[in-house]
Amino acid sequence: MQYLSTRGQAPALEFCDILLGGLAPDGGLYLPEAYPRVSHAELDEWRTLPYHALALRVLEKFITDIPACDLKSLVDRTYTAQTYRYCRPGRDAADITPLTTLEPGLHLLELSNGPTLAFKDMAMQLLGNLFEYVLDKRGETINILGATSGDTGSAAEYAMRGKHNVKVFMLSPHGKMSEFQRAQMYSLPDANIFNIAIRAMFDDCQDIVKAVSNDAAFKAQHRIGAVNSINWARVAAQIVYYFKGYFEATRSNDEEVSFAVPSGNFGNICAGHVARMMGLPIRRLVLATNENDVLDEFFRTGVYRPRATAETSVTSSPSMDISKASNFERFVFDLVRRDGAVVRDLWSKVDRGSSFDLRGTPWLARLPEFGFVSGRSTHADRLATIRATWEKHGVMIDTHTADGLKVGLEQREPGVPMVVLETAQPVKFAETIREALGREPMRPGEMEGIEALPQRVEVMDADAAAVKAFIAART
Ligand SMILES: *Cc1c(COP(=O)(O)O)cnc(C)c1O
Repeated sequence: MQYLSTRGQAPALEFCDILLGGLAPDGGLYLPEAYPRVSHAELDEWRTLPYHALALRVLEKFITDIPACDLKSLVDRTYTAQTYRYCRPGRDAADITPLTTLEPGLHLLELSNGPTLAFKDMAMQLLGNLFEYVLDKRGETINILGATSGDTGSAAEYAMRGKHNVKVFMLSPHGKMSEFQRAQMYSLPDANIFNIAIRAMFDDCQDIVKAVSNDAAFKAQHRIGAVNSINWARVAAQIVYYFKGYFEATRSNDEEVSFAVPSGNFGNICAGHVARMMGLPIRRLVLATNENDVLDEFFRTGVYRPRATAETSVTSSPSMDISKASNFERFVFDLVRRDGAVVRDLWSKVDRGSSFDLRGTPWLARLPEFGFVSGRSTHADRLATIRATWEKHGVMIDTHTADGLKVGLEQREPGVPMVVLETAQPVKFAETIREALGREPMRPGEMEGIEALPQRVEVMDADAAAVKAFIAART
């Protein structure tokens, strides 16, 4: 399987060659040259497989440059009941992504049972094992530099902790994350993990990452890499649970299912799009945003208008607070019939901070073929949805999942099961749970008292030179 750039001007590469890099050299994102199709016979065979075996079947279609036995061992080690053990009481951790039925035809697919209690573990844990494998084989090392406001950074650290040849330098805004999130990240004892709290906002952290990465000499000398949401391997790993959720919510492969996906950078739902292109019988892909509704606006109007940072609000579903959606280019590449010149033209506008408008183009007319519908949710909607789900079903959901459920209910059709992706556990967003329910969220027993563990974090000013010096002294 070869990978192409959405901007059509980069050489095709194999999976392992795009694994460690970020953008393609032409500024585009990598995608498979064609989506592998899944036959009816394969769907029948896959229906009863345990998660790790299903993951291998899906991933071996995309990863053809790792020997089958090695890939099997990587996947088997990634998707274990031990790693995904933080599930609700009464659920079987061996399911990895258990399905909870709220009422007939309405389900939650639990994707947040990994070590950081958010769905990013589903992909990041595989990425950690893939990185270690490829670096070992090539005799190379990598120093991952990132900025986080919460979920991504902790998922990356838990995926990379203790891995050979990998160090992680993670910037976070000092004092801006929840106490639980700080405890999760800063209490990691592993010698290859470095937490840097910057006396500034998240955007300043991101600017430092950009400044360091734009210094080509420093980047090369210190082998700086990233694990951001445009990484294709993350999208590939996420395809698997759409299959798993489909099988759990149906009895035969003649049925259709819709998925509701709380969305930010379009990574999660992009995996759903790929699963649908592979032939999984998905009826609707329901994209849910919070008040930062740049994607909802596109799917309703055909206008993609990335927001200025000042226009982006801080909400109670903070992992969806985006000004533009970094994976969206992948979907648009398919929408414009994979014409890299068209994507170049559209993103020349986006990269200048401007918008594009597909109204009146033949591409917008194709949108229904892809099954996308969308909606948005507000803080008041989240509170109401969390409350209703608790009162009606006795199930506590987090704020992001509430956005997905709210919009999923609006887009539900008779006779078509709606599977809402649960992207985080409520304990990560305790303040809003208290506001909605007047009680403390549940937390996995093992995570009782993590706020009291010793923490390792370097507090620094927003100064790229100081961050470079910190990294240089440790690589
Ligand atoms: C990252 C994240 C999202 C958004 O996912 P995308 O792939 O960026 O669309 C939603 N919910 C939670 C809890 C997240 O951490």
